[in-house]
Amino acid sequence: MRVNIRRTAVSFALLALVVLSACGAAAPQVQTADEKTSVTSAAPAAIAAPATATPLPLPTTAAELSMPVETKVEGTEELTADEVAGILFMREEEKLARDVYQVLYAQWSVPIFDNIAGSEATHMDAVLTLIERYGLEDPVDGRAVGEFADPTLQALYDQLVEQGSASLVAALEVGAAIEEIDILDLQAHLDETERADIRGVYENLLKGSRNHLRSFSANIERRAGEAYAPQYLDEDAYQAIIGGDTERGRAG
Ligand SMILES: [Zn+2]
Repeated sequence: MRVNIRRTAVSFALLALVVLSACGAAAPQVQTADEKTSVTSAAPAAIAAPATATPLPLPTTAAELSMPVETKVEGTEELTADEVAGILFMREEEKLARDVYQVLYAQWSVPIFDNIAGSEATHMDAVLTLIERYGLEDPVDGRAVGEFADPTLQALYDQLVEQGSASLVAALEVGAAIEEIDILDLQAHLDETERADIRGVYENLLKGSRNHLRSFSANIERRAGEAYAPQYLDEDAYQAIIGGDTERGRAG
C-alpha cells in the first residue's frame, strides 16, 4: 500500500513537471522584467486585473523579450510539452519491455527473451541520451525492475507478467504484444515532433521493434503450430511488418 501511494505521488509530480514546462514555454511573452518566474506570477496578475484596467504591458525591447529565457528550467524550454512527455514515456516503455523480458527469461529460460532484453536496454540508453541532452529528469532513476513512474505502464507491466506466466506460448504472445504497443506509441510520438535528433532515435527504436515483432511472431508460429494474430496493430500494418526483412542500422 505504501508503495502504491509513493508511485501515485511520483506520477503526480511528473505531471506537474510537464505542466510546469508547458507553462514555461507559453508564458514568456507576457512576462515583465521584475517577475522571477512565469508560473507563479503570471496567473495572479491576470485574475486580479479588473475589466477596465489598462492592458498588461507587453515587452517592447529585445532585452525584455530575451530575459524570461534565463528564468526557465534549464534545457526544457527548447521542447514542447508533448515532446517532453513523449521522451519520458518512451524511456519507461523501453524499460517495461526490458523488465518483462528479463522476468520471462528467468521463468522460461528461452533465449529470445534474454537476447531481446539486451536490445531493449540499448533502446533505454538511446532515450536516455535525449533526457540528458535536454536536461530532463529521468523517470527510471532509482527504480528497480518492475517499478514505473507512469501508473499506466505500471498496470501494463503487472498485467503482462501475469499473462506471460501462464505458458511459454502466452509468454511469447506477451512479447509480440509489447512490440506492437511499442510500434504504435513510437509512431504517435514521431507525429508530435519535427526534431531530427528525437525522430532519429524513435526511427531506430521502430526498426528494432519491427525486428522483435518478427522474431516473436516466428517463435509463436513454430511452437504453437499456428500463426500469431496481432493484438494491437491492424492486420494490414501487421502483415506489412511480418512480410519485411530484418532491418539493420542501430536497430537493436
Ligand atoms: Zn523491442
